[in-house]
Amino acid sequence: MHEHGWLVESAHRTSEGIVQYVRCADCGVRRVDVAAVPAVVPGAVSRELG
Ligand SMILES: [Zn+2]
Repeated sequence: MHEHGWLVESAHRTSEGIVQYVRCADCGVRRVDVAAVPAVVPGAVSRELG
């Protein structure tokens, strides 16, 4: 296991939000992300703020 470095290959706007197809530049595994609100940074589920 390693910390994937996701790169966005393509993104599509749908009725549910922005669908992003991402791929790890290191190991090549792919993932699909959905951002419900386009204005919000995708994947900002939980983050610590200083
Ligand atoms: Zn990876």
